[in-house]
Amino acid sequence: MSTSITGNRNGNRKDPAVVIIGAGMTGILLVIKLKEAGINNITLLEKKDSVGGTWRENTYPGVACDVPAHAYTYSFAANPEWSSVFAPGKEIHQYFIDVWKQYGVDQYTHFNEAVTSCRYEEGGWTVKTGKNKTYHADLLFTATGLLHKPVTPYFPGKDSFVGDQFHSAEWDHSIDLKGKRIGCIGTGSSAAQYIPELVGLEGADVTVFQRTPQWIVNTENRSYSEKEKQKFRDDPGFIEKTKHRALYIFEQGTTALTSTKFVDRLKHRLFSWNAKRYLKKSVRDPELLKKLTPDYKMGCKRVIMNSTFYDAIQQPNAHLVTEGIDRIEPNGIRTVDGKEHELDVIIYGTGFDPAAYMRPMEFTGRNGLSIDEAWSKKIQAYRSMLVPGFPNYICMLGPNSPIGNYSVIAMSEVQADYALQLVKHWQAGELQTIEAKPGAMQRWNAMLRERMGNTVWASGCNSWYLDVDGDPLTWPDTWQAWVALMQEPELDDFYRQQPESHPDQPDRKVA
Ligand code: NAP
Repeated sequence: MSTSITGNRNGNRKDPAVVIIGAGMTGILLVIKLKEAGINNITLLEKKDSVGGTWRENTYPGVACDVPAHAYTYSFAANPEWSSVFAPGKEIHQYFIDVWKQYGVDQYTHFNEAVTSCRYEEGGWTVKTGKNKTYHADLLFTATGLLHKPVTPYFPGKDSFVGDQFHSAEWDHSIDLKGKRIGCIGTGSSAAQYIPELVGLEGADVTVFQRTPQWIVNTENRSYSEKEKQKFRDDPGFIEKTKHRALYIFEQGTTALTSTKFVDRLKHRLFSWNAKRYLKKSVRDPELLKKLTPDYKMGCKRVIMNSTFYDAIQQPNAHLVTEGIDRIEPNGIRTVDGKEHELDVIIYGTGFDPAAYMRPMEFTGRNGLSIDEAWSKKIQAYRSMLVPGFPNYICMLGPNSPIGNYSVIAMSEVQADYALQLVKHWQAGELQTIEAKPGAMQRWNAMLRERMGNTVWASGCNSWYLDVDGDPLTWPDTWQAWVALMQEPELDDFYRQQPESHPDQPDRKVA
């Protein structure tokens, strides 16, 4: 097979060649922001044949966003047409397709280009794809999403199961689930959305295998009336108000999880009390109530925003199993109490690998340093975006981005603005490369550790918010504190232009 070389690495800081990996929400945003900044030599590589990232991948029944739609929208592309307060996944996917076309991002997009390796050499990046194409870049961004790699745990006997089994992010729509005995493993944010849909299917019998009960906040959805939509169309201020009200509530929630202030601790207690009251009001059977009651602090795992799960799990065709799974057998799941649960289908709502980021691609920085080596002790990035040893590379939504229940679009916008400032400083010749110094990385880590102790994430639970050492991957402070830190780069944390020493010049002392 021939190797074609496209794109270029011209080293011209005024007109740099930029490669962005991933055409989801963040990749689309980056192209728009770079164009606004006068940078047009952009290649957006997408492994699949359409845009939309998580909203293209997750097509399970009931998929929706649990952040209000007007807050889950780019700040520059308000959408008065959202059908409901919490929009369904399909509508969100269409929104990203529309923005992608409307803002001309389509001209920069290359589909079916799964990146296999990125290597920094001779002052730039060489990016190779599965199609055996090579792209050269002066600046490289990964916008591969935080949760893109589904995790399906191994249970003994898994392959012996004679029925169908699939992960929630790889929903097999060819299987008619009506009339089937369905086993659902996991009760996270995804499962809480599709379990009620499955319970509602004609003739279906649904067994839910719950390892840990969840904190659920009653979040009723409702459709917007035509009158409301007209108001959104006529008055952009009304959209802004609706958006800011929603974001304010989420900000209050985040603050309550991270702050030590008395008033915030009080808010946390109030939120917890409210969720427990909703549970008690919803579930009558004391046995079931006990099984569904969390015994860890609210917010330690991602809080579930939902109004249908408790009702669904009390239906006669729904069964909650809290005994652990011992093994999978040809006809179903056997739990540790020895009971066999006969099933036709098993659905794994078991989440994603939060440490995958750009992996499994081969990713190599200066002097052959691989990302696996750089992250062998801990995944880390200065300001969640910059990995020492990987010059002119920016990892969007990287480790310790303020995830939680906040709008991830707002996060990407803050990070894109920060990244663009770095690019401008680099273009102006103020930075040798866009790369944080190791000392800056250490200071950042020390700050994270110091603040982490105060947060609910360090209070003890099993969650994807925690890394293998049990250290949180979330941002350990308020949304406002993060935004303030991301307002502008501290250039002294980067390799400045002469006379600063720089690792690309081996005869000089590395800072
Ligand atoms: P998740 O929240 O990580 O939940 C995974 C579930 O699988 C948990 O109930 C977990 O139990 C269970 N599980 C994992 N491994 C297991 C094992 N070996 N045996 C038994 N149970 C096991 O995954 P998710 O529901 O796919 O959600 C992932 C994230 O996607 C969310 O946190 C959220 O950030 C995002 N999401 C967002 C929305 C939205 O509306 N914005 C919707 C869906 C998802 P334990 O709790 O005991 O670990």
